[in-house]
Amino acid sequence: MLKSITSKGLVLYNRNFREDDKLVKIFTEQAGKRMFFVKHVRNSKLSPVIQPLVVANFLMKVNDDGLSYIDDYQEVTVFQHINHDLFTMAYATYVVALADASIQDNEIDSALFAFLQKMLELMEQGLDYEVLTNIFEIQILSRFGVSLNFHECCFCHRIGLPFDFSFTYNGVLCPEHYSKDERRSHLEPNILYLLDQFQAVQFNDLKTISLNSELKYQLRKVIDQIYEEYVGIHLKSKKFIDSLEDWGEILKNKESE
Ligand SMILES: [Zn+2]
Repeated sequence: MLKSITSKGLVLYNRNFREDDKLVKIFTEQAGKRMFFVKHVRNSKLSPVIQPLVVANFLMKVNDDGLSYIDDYQEVTVFQHINHDLFTMAYATYVVALADASIQDNEIDSALFAFLQKMLELMEQGLDYEVLTNIFEIQILSRFGVSLNFHECCFCHRIGLPFDFSFTYNGVLCPEHYSKDERRSHLEPNILYLLDQFQAVQFNDLKTISLNSELKYQLRKVIDQIYEEYVGIHLKSKKFIDSLEDWGEILKNKESE
């Protein structure tokens, strides 16, 4: 049954369907992720708003058992800075793909919608896209059913100590309890401190976070490990980011030659 609603939506992706039609995946605030059918795209007034990362207020007919339809739209936001910077674009695309992977179709999650939209706005403002991505990755773990304790020692529950991470105990160990896990991660304590901050960070604090490249590199490594161990998804957009990083390394090495 088709139901008419108005909702904010973020376009996740579109793909060609038959000769001149498209299927468009939109994450809507009010009705979750849905697949929309857009007919005769070339002559459609909808063509500018079905591009990835566009946010708009859509008037739509949603269908719980099949394709949905867009009737009209207003208040379109296009992220100009993101669209024109290869690196920011790569990270924004990954964050969106991660959100996409974390929820089922038709599942309403307006909190995730708001979080994702805020992330994109902050990337658009030019805040550090690597740090924002890390924060998003940590906070969205719960959507994948993963709950990790970065805050207090798994054994004595003390806080604020130079912690290390244990994959065996899904959380941190204090120096007194390092020995509980022979295969603990041997991470720098400031990495665990940051992961704890990321888990609880408020948007207003984000503007003040600034990290050096070595710390960012360490964070990237441990978050990759966490995703490999607990989430196990392999997104194309993440592989692209990894290849960009390799490319960035080559450029850096060239500069220092
Ligand atoms: Zn302890």
